[in-house]
Amino acid sequence: MTSVPFINPMSIEGQRILKKNIDLDSIFEYNQDLVDTLTHIGEGILDDETKSPNSYGKLVLKRIEWYFREKNDPKFKISDYSYFFNEAIDKFDLVAFHLSSQAIAFRYNLNSRETKLFLESQQRIIEERLSRISNEIVENLINKILNELLSDSTYLNWKDILPLIRSKKILLKDLLLFNGEIILDEDEFEEKYHDRMDDWPYRRIKRAFNELVGYKTKELILTQLIIENTEEYLKNIKEKLQRIQIHPSIEKLSEEIAGLLDKLNKKYSKFYGESGIFSGEGEMTALSKDAFPPCANNIIEGVKSGNRNDAIVLFLTSFISYCRLNPQVFRGDVSTKISDFDPDLRITTDEILPIIYEAAKNAVPPLFEDQPQEKINIVSKLGFGMYDEIKLENEGQTKWYTPMSCDKIKLHLTNLCKPDKVCRKIGNPLSYYSYKRWLLKNKR
Ligand code: SF4
Repeated sequence: MTSVPFINPMSIEGQRILKKNIDLDSIFEYNQDLVDTLTHIGEGILDDETKSPNSYGKLVLKRIEWYFREKNDPKFKISDYSYFFNEAIDKFDLVAFHLSSQAIAFRYNLNSRETKLFLESQQRIIEERLSRISNEIVENLINKILNELLSDSTYLNWKDILPLIRSKKILLKDLLLFNGEIILDEDEFEEKYHDRMDDWPYRRIKRAFNELVGYKTKELILTQLIIENTEEYLKNIKEKLQRIQIHPSIEKLSEEIAGLLDKLNKKYSKFYGESGIFSGEGEMTALSKDAFPPCANNIIEGVKSGNRNDAIVLFLTSFISYCRLNPQVFRGDVSTKISDFDPDLRITTDEILPIIYEAAKNAVPPLFEDQPQEKINIVSKLGFGMYDEIKLENEGQTKWYTPMSCDKIKLHLTNLCKPDKVCRKIGNPLSYYSYKRWLLKNKR
């Protein structure tokens, strides 16, 4: 029988296992017990020892690596990480989950890309683990976990699962609702609808319940609740860290996670190039994320409502497009258009728009969820008229906006400007980009 903590590491049983097994002083030490367990599991890792983590620290890094590669690496093979879905690893993975949570909460903001990546990876792990359990067992397990998750709340309202409804993973019509409350429990179903089923035999009531409340719906709700609890857990850790000193091992772990993410981003990113790789001044090259100013990075990582629309549509759209295609625009006064640099619009489609859309997704709340029309405004600021897609035939109907100056950003997009040392020497984020690229190149 699969254990509850294998799916919900924050369960009561999970807390008990954690207390018994965690030892912050030995995170990076060779762990014979872990190595033996992985060797016993065997699948997919015995051909290459780099695939097999031998300490808790390395297990945490593998947890991040597998999800990042699944999302970004076309050569990714899930079998290289199959031990994450084998229950024999449950005790180790539970500790790895809690160590990752501490390191992520220590190093990153709650709405950062890295935190989102961690939450998404946890969601994928839960989905994959549940998908590998047989139907007879999974239903019982889901009921058990849901009972524990909902034991403190009086009831679950449909508004509590809005992200699932917005993403269309669950349709409102598929939920069994009673005055807004989602019915997930058979006893509750009987209690609420007893007047309509008075003379029904028990088997008929059970069948009706199973038909109306499928376990797939329960599975989605359960996953969403665990992810919400994980977010809350990260928030609590962050608050605690303001009062207590971080353990040096967690600090070191957070540095290793940052180093790994940097390496993975450079290796698998579809839009960024390696820092400092470009041959001549002003030459068009892959974007160097390390050369972005703090204001641009803040927007990409997730800007909050208030500044959100203008930050993405007015500033980031022009900033990214000029960085990639014409970083020296302010040197001449010739008006240019995107197709002068990107005749078939491939760079704009494959490299520029994905970064802008990523920032839109990371925004709080996500930009296109409540204002899908902003896609048209982005196309318009790139010079392709008021349409929701860029097309060569529409180019020139609007102007390709140049990035606003630092003074304008400070005035109109308050809170985004968090100047660093390089900012003292420039007056426009685009000049920051060119200057910092030059610095990075010379450092190399
Ligand atoms: S000074 Fe300019 S480049 Fe630097 S963070 Fe502020 S707005 Fe951005």
